[in-house]
Amino acid sequence: MAYELAPLPYDYNALEPYIDAETMHLHHDKHHQAYVNNLNAAVANHPELAAKSVDELLANLDAVPEAIRTAVRNHGGGTANHNLFWSILGPVNAPGVGGAPTGAIAQQIAADFGGFEEFKKAFNEAATKQFGSGWGWLVFTGGKLKIVTTGNQDTPVSQGLYPILCNDVWEHAYYLKYQNRRPDYLAAWWNVVNWNEIDKRFAKAKA
Ligand code: MN
Repeated sequence: MAYELAPLPYDYNALEPYIDAETMHLHHDKHHQAYVNNLNAAVANHPELAAKSVDELLANLDAVPEAIRTAVRNHGGGTANHNLFWSILGPVNAPGVGGAPTGAIAQQIAADFGGFEEFKKAFNEAATKQFGSGWGWLVFTGGKLKIVTTGNQDTPVSQGLYPILCNDVWEHAYYLKYQNRRPDYLAAWWNVVNWNEIDKRFAKAKA
């Protein structure tokens, strides 16, 4: 059974003006699709691997034969990271999208970072400093929220961590609209963050 690219859970223009429709078409239909295709190619002769979920592959890369491990790490990571990324975003002005978080995740952010504004500042700083392509993440570990970054398509899942939210800082995520201004993209991105979905992930992380 081959891995498949799910359609976006909203329209391509749903994140306008913060993330433009052309970027979303290229990002989902071309970049994400390529990761899925390359992952399928990597495991084509390994039905025992193809039977696992992408997250299962990434959580145990040592179980992947060395000859295809880098391909699974890169393209499996690219597949799973974008699956998560689309899911924690939502249409502008939809309930629970943008603005400040509410509920349990808001309380945990306040406890661990001092408040939502402090958290945003720390997350944006970390994501700005990620050199080259990579991701910014919020994970829940040891009873606390923690900001981490990874290079390329590496994921905290491979470190045994459960990601609650992520932001893509590859240039393909923002270059058409923001060119070299990664901090402007990072600042605008919070307007399309889906706190309802993130609060659900936080509940799973605690369980
Ligand atoms: Mn991307």
